[in-house]
Order: sequence, then structure tokens, then C-alpha cells
Amino acid sequence: MREAHIPLATLPARVSIREVGPRDGLQNEDVILSTAQKIALINCLSDSGLEHIEVGSFVHPQAVPQMADTAEVFARIERHPNIVYSAIAPNRKGAERAVAAGADAIQVFLSTSESHNQSNVHMSIADSLSQAAEIAALVRHAGKLFDAVLSVVFGCPFEGDVPIERVLQIAERLVAMGAQQITLGDTTGMAHPRLVQEVCLAFAERFPQVPVRFHPHSARGAGLANVLAALQVGVDRFDASVGGIGGCPFAPGAPGNVCTEDLAHMLHEMGIASGIVLPRVLACARNLERLLGHAVPGQTVKAGICGHLGSQGEPRIAELARG
Ligand code: ZN
Repeated sequence: MREAHIPLATLPARVSIREVGPRDGLQNEDVILSTAQKIALINCLSDSGLEHIEVGSFVHPQAVPQMADTAEVFARIERHPNIVYSAIAPNRKGAERAVAAGADAIQVFLSTSESHNQSNVHMSIADSLSQAAEIAALVRHAGKLFDAVLSVVFGCPFEGDVPIERVLQIAERLVAMGAQQITLGDTTGMAHPRLVQEVCLAFAERFPQVPVRFHPHSARGAGLANVLAALQVGVDRFDASVGGIGGCPFAPGAPGNVCTEDLAHMLHEMGIASGIVLPRVLACARNLERLLGHAVPGQTVKAGICGHLGSQGEPRIAELARG
């Protein structure tokens, strides 16, 4: 028998998934969920074995009306002591509100291309880095985790290719500010497996002590292939959204974030632990479909969990149909 081309010994035995559906996902949906619906969604996700949930963001409510009630959501969710509940803050004021709301981790985000940063937060990268330094000081003083998310690392909708050296230089500034993790975002789904490996390897070489998280999008269908490419070079932290909701304003109608249950299903089948209890996260995805009033892009919610996952999964749809 031929040997598999992915030697399992080279892959991480366990990965950490940060659930970004309540923020990255919902903020790109036309339907605005009520505060109670968001709380129900997050409580459902908290019971799914996830260890990190991005609850919302503290941006100006006029800019992102979907996130206007993030403080109230934080106040009313049932928090599990072993789950990190994080929020995004674009500036000092947002970070103050995130700390006051009780976020465990605060994420700053900036783009690795000037034009995307301008279009996203109306500032130059240099100004975003100044804001990040203020946020870092505030967040660390409050004893919270300071986390940095870089957008359009693998391609910019305005500028095309993004030089890896520029990504590393921006990351260097954030690491100097005390970033405890750097997230490399494929915001518009322009990454491909070879590029993912090039960027992740360059990052690991420059910052061997800094954990890297990969934030894949599936706008062009390469999401899970890119995850596998990242796994092969040792990345063990990923972002994903329940149901695969999200999308991107530059690719209307395209699928969004890599889907949490599709990713967890693939990992489980490969023997890589994620801690996620598949039937529970699938139940969240089905609830989400009802709340949004449309089908979610995720595939496992349609195909069901493979039967041989047994007690961890559910019977296959085909078996249900036979029975
Ligand atoms: Zn995203």
C-alpha cells in the first residue's frame, strides 16, 4: 500500500479554534440579531467545547450597527471559566469599553496594505500602529491578553500582492508592544496553500517565540486547503465561524470564514483534537440558520457527521433516510 503523503507525525496533535461567528460572521450579515439571540448563540457555542469565542467589537455603532450591543452581550452571556471571551477594539476608546465590559482578550486589527487600512479604519498604517501602542499599554495594564490581527496578509483587494517583508515589519512593531499572539488574516480569501506556507514559515523564522494564528476565509473555495497547508508547517491556532457565516464586502455572495464544524469535522477525521463536540456545534449552526432565515454556507450541516465518528457524531443523513 502506498504511504500517505501527509506524515501524521509532522502535524500538530491538537489545535485551538477561535470561534469568530458572533463578530466576523454576524457583522457581515444583513440580518441584525437581537441581543437575546446573540446571547443564545454564544451560550450555545460555549457548550460546544470551544476554548475561545470572539464575542463582538467595540467600534462606533454607526460604522458597524450589528455590534452596537457588544457590552450588553458581554454582561449577559453565561461565561465558562475555561473559555477566553474576546473583543475587537480599533482605538483606545474601544479598548477602554472592552476592558470595562469584561473581555478576557482584546484584539487590535490593522491591514498590511495602506489602501485597505484606509478603507477599513480611515487611517494610515502608521496611525493604526500608534493606536495599537496605546491599546497595548491599556490592555496590559488591565491584565488582559493583547492580541493583534493583521488583515489582507495574503492579498489586498486594492493592491494585489502584499510583500511578506511588510507583514513581518508590521508584526515586529506589534510584538515589541507585547502582542501575545499574531493572527494572519486572509480577509478576502486570496490565499493559496503555497503562499500560506511561505508566510507562516517566514513568520516562524523571524518570531520563533510568538504564536501565530491563521484566519482563513473561503471566498474562493481554498479555505480548508489553506488550513491543511498551515498545519503542515506547524500552525496550530485557527479562526473559524459557526456555519461558515461571514463573507467579505469585496466579494459579495462568496462564502465567508472557514466553517467551524467543517474544520472540526476534518480535524477529527484526521485524528487531530480540537476539543469541539461536533453535534453541539452543529446544533448551534442549525439554530443560526433559523435566526438568520437562510441556509449557512457550511457543508457538514447539510451532509451530517460521518457515521463512523460514532458517539461523537450523529448518524449519516443516508442512514437516517433509510431508517
Ligand atoms: Zn475575517
